[in-house]
Amino acid sequence: MTHDIKACDVLVIGAGPGGGNAALHSARAGLSTIIIEDHEEIGTPVHCGECISDVACDNLDLELPKNVISKRVNGIRVIFPDGTEKKLTEKGYVLEKHLFERWICDEAVSEGAAIHLGHKLNSMEKIYKEGKFSGWRCDGKGDNFPIEAKIVIDASGVAGICSRLLSLNPRPKVIAGMQYEMLEVPTDDYLDFYIWPKYAEKGYVWMIPKCDGRANVGLVTEDKSRTKKGLDEFIANTHFKDLEQVAPPWKIKGNPAFGGTIPISGPHENTYADGLMLVGDAAGFTSPLFEGGSHLALKSAVFAAQIASKSISSGDITSSSLAEYQSLWKNEFPPYSKILSGKSALFDLSDDDMSLMARCFPDEMSNMGPHGKLAVCFKILFLRPSLYARKIIPAMLSFGYSRAKYYGW
Ligand SMILES: Cc1cc2nc3c(=O)[nH]c(=O)nc-3n(C[C@H](O)[C@H](O)[C@H](O)COP(=O)(O)OP(=O)(O)OC[C@H]3O[C@@H](n4cnc5c(N)ncnc54)[C@H](O)[C@@H]3O)c2cc1C
Repeated sequence: MTHDIKACDVLVIGAGPGGGNAALHSARAGLSTIIIEDHEEIGTPVHCGECISDVACDNLDLELPKNVISKRVNGIRVIFPDGTEKKLTEKGYVLEKHLFERWICDEAVSEGAAIHLGHKLNSMEKIYKEGKFSGWRCDGKGDNFPIEAKIVIDASGVAGICSRLLSLNPRPKVIAGMQYEMLEVPTDDYLDFYIWPKYAEKGYVWMIPKCDGRANVGLVTEDKSRTKKGLDEFIANTHFKDLEQVAPPWKIKGNPAFGGTIPISGPHENTYADGLMLVGDAAGFTSPLFEGGSHLALKSAVFAAQIASKSISSGDITSSSLAEYQSLWKNEFPPYSKILSGKSALFDLSDDDMSLMARCFPDEMSNMGPHGKLAVCFKILFLRPSLYARKIIPAMLSFGYSRAKYYGW
């Protein structure tokens, strides 16, 4: 049997926020663009708490249409093990994330991109013309395969399909997340993040409010075997216990819980190769402390589309031309390993140490400044000098990196 071979400048794998935005910016730059998505529809199942900051929207030039917004929110409230509450006030939105992802893909289509749903990449091989690398021949499940592309942008999320097919990077370490939609949840329009290790070891529990009293109540934890149990126990032991759990509007059948995994070992060693760039979760771009990844996925997609356009017009799509992609994200994204060591130090603290640290923070953590941070350090070390050896300072600073301007959300 012979197939018609589809050809394009850019083939984007996956229609999450990273893939949608890569397709949008590639098409906008005048590149012939195809986006493929494994699922039969975009955005579902949702695997996200669904929040995005104003800073992210400004940084990405996103003017969100009303239908993708569920709620306007004021920022994050962190609740420590003893109940101490501190705020990181910076405004943003809780989205209807599946509608957001559909909107981005619709924008890409209106700029000329073609989208093929129910198409799953499962093989790719290099093409050479006159001995020169000229792109990839991609194949998989779906009527429109095979597809030939000068450049492939891998936005396949935690699946990291191109890394897997080409043995480009090892599988990342992941954290597991799960949530329920609940009704009539009391809120003052903050996202509540509970750092309560007894329910979410090396993770946290959240209440993310949505419109009409709805909320996502969920958690992430490195103890994968306790993801659902930890969440159910948290709900049973808190004011959430009397609230109704429902399936979210997009979930027609099955268990009401929804979630997924998030890469947490940081950016991959190889985020580009000949005719290939990895964006978003597929590149390991997630924020270290609270694991938000949408802002990073959307921004890395902009960089990848920019470099795709530049490389294709220069006639050089080899790795040496695409190396600039790595320089762009490295210059822009926060220092992952530094923040990660702060996160590890934080999770090595006992509940009591963590709560003491929290009591020394000002009520509003978002504008501490260098003097404020120094004052908090002195206060903590005066009260408990032994905490110096337990890396309390990097632990404390990791909260600063959860802010939107550091791609925290
Ligand atoms: C429980 C949970 C809560 C979260 N909460 C938040 C939050 O509140 N805020 C935030 O910023 N981030 C959050 N995140 C992280 C966020 O969801 C991701 O970082 C973000 O979606 C990454 O976008 P992406 O486009 O890189 O990948 P994804 O959104 O994962 O999209 C990848 C797409 O590729 C498709 N795909 C995979 N393999 C193939 C293939 N072989 N062929 C074709 N298509 C393929 C998938 O079906 C999917 O649609 C959360 C994650 C989880 C699991």
